[in-house]
Amino acid sequence: MKTVKLTHALLAATCLSAGAIYADTQVEPEHALHMLHTQDAQFEKQIIQVADNVYTAVGYHGANTSMIVGNDGVIIVDTLMSPTSAAEAMQAFRKYSDKPVKAILYTHSHSDHIGGANGFVGDTMPAIYATESFGSAEGVNQVVDPVKMKRNIRQFGRDLTGEEVTNRGVAPANTTDHDRMQGFLPPTIRIEQDGYQATIAGIELEFYFAPGETDDAMFIWLPKEKVLFTGDNFYSSFPNLYAIRGTAYRDVLKWSESVAKMAAFEPDYVVPGHTMPILDKAIATTALSHYSEAIRSIYDQTVDGINAGKSPELIAHEVHLPDHLQDKPYLIEFYGTVPHAVRAIYVGLLGWFDGNPTTLNPLEPKVQAEKIAQLAGGTEALIKQMNAALEAEDYQWALELADHVKWLPDADRSQARQVKIQALRALAAREYNAPNRNYYLSYANELESGKLSTIWF
Ligand SMILES: [Zn+2]
Repeated sequence: MKTVKLTHALLAATCLSAGAIYADTQVEPEHALHMLHTQDAQFEKQIIQVADNVYTAVGYHGANTSMIVGNDGVIIVDTLMSPTSAAEAMQAFRKYSDKPVKAILYTHSHSDHIGGANGFVGDTMPAIYATESFGSAEGVNQVVDPVKMKRNIRQFGRDLTGEEVTNRGVAPANTTDHDRMQGFLPPTIRIEQDGYQATIAGIELEFYFAPGETDDAMFIWLPKEKVLFTGDNFYSSFPNLYAIRGTAYRDVLKWSESVAKMAAFEPDYVVPGHTMPILDKAIATTALSHYSEAIRSIYDQTVDGINAGKSPELIAHEVHLPDHLQDKPYLIEFYGTVPHAVRAIYVGLLGWFDGNPTTLNPLEPKVQAEKIAQLAGGTEALIKQMNAALEAEDYQWALELADHVKWLPDADRSQARQVKIQALRALAAREYNAPNRNYYLSYANELESGKLSTIWF
């Protein structure tokens, strides 16, 4: 039986079903739910006063938005995804200042940070700051938008029922999305220089390039207030170094370096792109240092594995967070996961070929399935094994066998479909990684609805 490494302080004890195989982000169902509910506190809707003149709105949409109050105006950092949510956050900010919005700062170009901008704009148009490379990630893989949209819906659990839904790892499950991106305003000032300084409404600001989740990311430093706005290179979860909705390679090494660069400022307060700000001076810098170290460690361990000639699958099962980082609340795998990161790093550095000539020309799935059935003693025997795996709560194996059975012309495919649906739901129940959980549940529902009737991908 595999030993589960429990990374959450709240999990004092767990008992695992005999013979069950758990992935790193899987625990007993009640514990998984408890952990996800605990994480909900990270995006409960509220306004947080970060410093005397800095306020952050958490939980008004998926991401955070902040207001910095200056002498004759305010500055907005990130604008949420939709103008409806943005206007709501602005109304809440107005309790603290009625000064005009002088500037909007985009930490990066993801839609949950830029799509609501006009919800913050009053009578006069503010200056809008972003890096010179703003939007560079756009269009890289637009050609696969049709499937990306489907996978996005699954990752975020957009079609899940009220009973199934939990959260999105670093964001609440339910957000106002009907007007997503409808408030976007393009940048008017492109920052060309790392460390660029500006004074807006009497507030001193510094802008630093920080490639990571996106190449166009920057962090913003307030030297007087000692507040650092990280964008999405930091939040309270192991980072999403790879997104299962499908993304181009996110440069993991640069991500680690960007967070180390933030830690060097030794901020008193850290405002992440998602989840609660860190207001504890002692923890703020430590959290950034640990975060950078965690990313770097996963990268280094993966590179070591690659250079030892190991396959991505093997490395993904071997790499773990260093022991001293495993109980850090900001590194629990609620959003990103270590094995997904490992595979992404492998593909990012070397492409799909794992170096083993067996994989140069593998059998096509149908032929492989037929041979597996033969090995099992025939199609019926394979189906028996599949059902037995489900019965034994060996859910991953049940999924893998169902994926063979689905190719067999003489098999009762509906049985395989049923097994897959049940195994996905059982795995989902154990998952505290929100994207995995949402994906399993969404896919099970799609299978059940008949939407994936032919190939089931
Ligand atoms: Zn975001």
